[in-house]
Amino acid sequence: PIVSGTDCYEQTGQTGLWVEVLVDCPGVQGVFTYGLPVGLMVQPGDILSVPFGAQQIGGVVVRCLTALPDGTNLAQLREIDGVIARGFFPPAYWEILLRVAEYYCTPLMQVIRMALPTGLLGRSQRRIKLSQEQGTGNREQGTGGREQGTGNREQKPPLDGMPCTISTVAQQILTLLQSSKTGDYSWQYLQRQVPNAYRGLQELLKLGWVESYLQPPTPIRPKQRQAVTLINQADVALLSPRQQEVLRVLQRQGGELWLTDLLALCQTSSTTLKAIAQKGYLIIQPREVLRSESSETTVTDTPKALTKDQAIALAAIQPLAGYTSVLLHGVTGSGKTEVYLQAIAPLLDEGKSAIVLVPEIGLTPQLTDRFRARFGDRVCVYHSALSDGERYDTWRQLLTGTAQVVIGTRSAIFAPLANLGLIILDEEHDSSFKQDQPSPCYHARTVAQWRAELEQCPLILGSATPSLETWVAHQEVSNQGMANDEYRMANQGMANKRMANQEPFAISPTETLREQNSEFGIRNSPVYLSLPARVQARPMPAIEVVDMRQELGRGNRSIFSQSLQAALNHLHESGEQGILFIQRRGHSTFVSCRSCGYVVMCPHCDVSLAYHQIHAEARPVLRCHYCNYTQAHPEVCPECQSSYFKHFGSGTQRVTQALEQEFPTLRVLRFDSDTTRTKGAHRSLLTRFAQGDADLLVGTQMLTKGIDLPQVTLVGIVAADGLLHLSDYRASERTFQVLTQVAGRCGRGDRPGRVILQTYSPDHPVIAAVQQQQQYEPFVQTELEQRKLLNYPPYGRLILLKFSGLSPGVVQTTAAQVAAALQPLQEQGVERLGPAAAAIERVARRYRWQILLKVPATVAISASFLSSLRDLCPSSVSFAIDIDPLNI
Ligand code: ADP
Ligand code: ZN
Ligand code: ZN
Repeated sequence: PIVSGTDCYEQTGQTGLWVEVLVDCPGVQGVFTYGLPVGLMVQPGDILSVPFGAQQIGGVVVRCLTALPDGTNLAQLREIDGVIARGFFPPAYWEILLRVAEYYCTPLMQVIRMALPTGLLGRSQRRIKLSQEQGTGNREQGTGGREQGTGNREQKPPLDGMPCTISTVAQQILTLLQSSKTGDYSWQYLQRQVPNAYRGLQELLKLGWVESYLQPPTPIRPKQRQAVTLINQADVALLSPRQQEVLRVLQRQGGELWLTDLLALCQTSSTTLKAIAQKGYLIIQPREVLRSESSETTVTDTPKALTKDQAIALAAIQPLAGYTSVLLHGVTGSGKTEVYLQAIAPLLDEGKSAIVLVPEIGLTPQLTDRFRARFGDRVCVYHSALSDGERYDTWRQLLTGTAQVVIGTRSAIFAPLANLGLIILDEEHDSSFKQDQPSPCYHARTVAQWRAELEQCPLILGSATPSLETWVAHQEVSNQGMANDEYRMANQGMANKRMANQEPFAISPTETLREQNSEFGIRNSPVYLSLPARVQARPMPAIEVVDMRQELGRGNRSIFSQSLQAALNHLHESGEQGILFIQRRGHSTFVSCRSCGYVVMCPHCDVSLAYHQIHAEARPVLRCHYCNYTQAHPEVCPECQSSYFKHFGSGTQRVTQALEQEFPTLRVLRFDSDTTRTKGAHRSLLTRFAQGDADLLVGTQMLTKGIDLPQVTLVGIVAADGLLHLSDYRASERTFQVLTQVAGRCGRGDRPGRVILQTYSPDHPVIAAVQQQQQYEPFVQTELEQRKLLNYPPYGRLILLKFSGLSPGVVQTTAAQVAAALQPLQEQGVERLGPAAAAIERVARRYRWQILLKVPATVAISASFLSSLRDLCPSSVSFAIDIDPLNI
């Protein structure tokens, strides 16, 4: 059964006598060759059902063959069972999947499974049922002779009489099957329920009491409902009044209704409808229902008159042809979204499409609304929280071109749009664009780059605080054109060499990847565009840094400084609104002194030591999770001997409690993962806040993302320290980004904004940089020097090898063995850190270790070498390769 066919299929499909198929079977890697039935055409990406062992499973066509490799045993070749779906990948899409698989060292099938809507690849299931005679409940009446294959019937005891002749295991299986409503269970279920089920099953099969059969896969399908369509409205006078009523209702509703709706509206029966249908006035037929996320806005919006900066940016973007990477560096509130909207509009009229990636869709309903208000139904939302059916339908809408704009989270970079005209990453620095697990651990920005190159379209990276990678990529070209060219030539040489040797795609510097792609078409130099001021000359908010050590000195033990207290009190009186930002719970791992601000650092790694406690009774230690340096947890501050020395943490709950006690009249809304768990909760919380239901919104990291509320005039940051001392080389960059984003939430309306930033480390350079947020560049320069010195991205590249397992000893030994196998890399100049325990060593009973590789920009590591490390790991240890990791 063919689910969907696109026109492109007929044109490009090739007839092959054989196909190489990637099978969807866990633990099985590699492609298998199958024969094609005469006359059937398939192309790479088509989804098939194929026989595999005794099963029927899903598979994806990799290649069509017109000749078989020498030595193939023709007799052993099997034919495919059928085509499940075709045309599910737009042109160039297949190429992206291959590249992701190679670059991120992930089996191709796993990449396909991640990209495709779930449920497309079906798998047949083995089920066990009672033989007919046993299951029908009429065994007492003897054997009617309906059954086959029950040869020695006379030996068969009644099931509920004599357990003596069969084993306990077999008896257990029988009992279970008898209790089943349908008379059968999946083999998997039986195995879980009954120990040694296999033995019992063999026994029962031999006796012929049970049968085993394969249930064919049921891949996800379009959903259909009966619809009634008016086709002829003449001569209403000929019909009975009841029939006339039906036709009138149908006409009033635009000529078409779902059958059930029409029946309810007219309070009539389907017999009446059939009678009218027979007279030729309407037809009843199945119609597809789209399970896409429905749009909630009906507002329309027209393009705004652009500011000068916006106009310059748009003018630079619009004429771009071919692949160009654009950094749109605009301060918070500078109107980046308006530029995106106006850049997309003309493309849609040309029939082109666009992908817009945002950090978290649930948190930015406003953004989606703005796109829908401008482009209506041409906008589709695509993210991992869609149901299987929604994802499947959205996917098909995109394939057929009914929807032209996709807004979504990182997985939307795999949305199957053809004819892409533009890709946008909003808040491109956000770490949610990187998948941590499961594999492939891809970064949506990297994949976006590849897609834009293959599709020959521009890529816009927008941010108020660009990632250092993006910053460097868009600065070097304008500032140091020469140096960059040399760099490229060196890489080009390397790429050529690798291609000549036919080496598999390699883990190599991004620049090299791009060079490999240049064969696909024009590749322009990166473009840097800036929006340095807020729209309508609104001022940036003033940032006041409060030294919390002094508050303690003044006898203020509240978590709110005097300044913040005053501001909160004023909020309520003035009728303005505020946002209170709290660091995320998981980030409170560093240890510091509340009296002097001292933070314990690793003597070897230049990161703060992490608070480490394996279980509740264990004595806490401080540990570096880069090099595993460990020391006892000091009782008092090593610097000033204060006993007010502990690890940091203040969750939303604690803060809301304190607010209730200290500001009983303040109306507070909590916005965190607890209060926003249900679908649509983000939107309703934000709507309530926007309507003025509360004075203060309290929340975590989530609040940094894209909230645009004009009446917010105050942002309070309870303690910036949790971010400052993340034990991570990106701590400063991330802190700068988060704090700038949070601060940017206020003063977006007519009244200016004010930020109160509380910290125990007011002298930290990042705090100073945030305070003068217009000067992003000096901060970046300092930070880049550090990175260069230590070979961190964007200069060197990182690869994280992650091990986990139930036995700490086995995990550690495995990590050590892999470390030893890395020797050849180290000889090429790759630096190895660890093995070391992960920041949180035990998670869900599994112990986690890791090895970090620092790879110089000039060294390329082959994906096959990294993948081969898998073979060193016993099955009890899971091994994951994280290329360009963000959380280390
Ligand atoms: P950013 O994404 O850069 O933080 P937004 O795109 O959210 O900024 O714009 C901030 C606010 O300014 C929004 O409310 C938006 O509607 C408004 N805005 C943007 N461009 C203009 C313009 N040219 N004229 C008037 N208002 C604008
Ligand atoms: Zn260390
Ligand atoms: Zn101290």
